[in-house]
Amino acid sequence: MKDCLFCKIAAGEIPSNKLYEDDQILVFHDIDPQAPVHFLVIPKEHIDSAACLTEENAPLIGHVYATIARLAKGLGVDESGYRVVTNVGEDGGQSVKHLHFHVLAKRSLAWPPG
Ligand code: 5GP
Ligand code: ZN
Repeated sequence: MKDCLFCKIAAGEIPSNKLYEDDQILVFHDIDPQAPVHFLVIPKEHIDSAACLTEENAPLIGHVYATIARLAKGLGVDESGYRVVTNVGEDGGQSVKHLHFHVLAKRSLAWPPG
């Protein structure tokens, strides 16, 4: 999608600090980390937010979570724990309008979030 920051990152037009990539998704470190580990998982296909997901996206979302579990294990945070967050819309605090999953780890995270 034109003028979408994460589409440009997915296309390699804007550089990112990549952790993992395949034909469906890209995983890269957040530019403004909120925890010692903070990476983002995005589909390469433009989807505005989780509010736009349908049953047809089930394989993609399964792939996202399976990849997060594998990466978390590789980073050694599978036992200490981590948080997966997708912000939706204005009240959800979504600033980039391309579906993304935050993965935060290596600190104790408060609940409820602010
Ligand atoms: P949101 O607020 O939409 O849930 O999350 C957007 C996230 O994208 C924020 O955590 C922000 O730091 C991150 N971000 C924004 N611009 C860039 C960028 O150009 N590169 C990277 N790696 N992260 C970005
Ligand atoms: Zn996009």
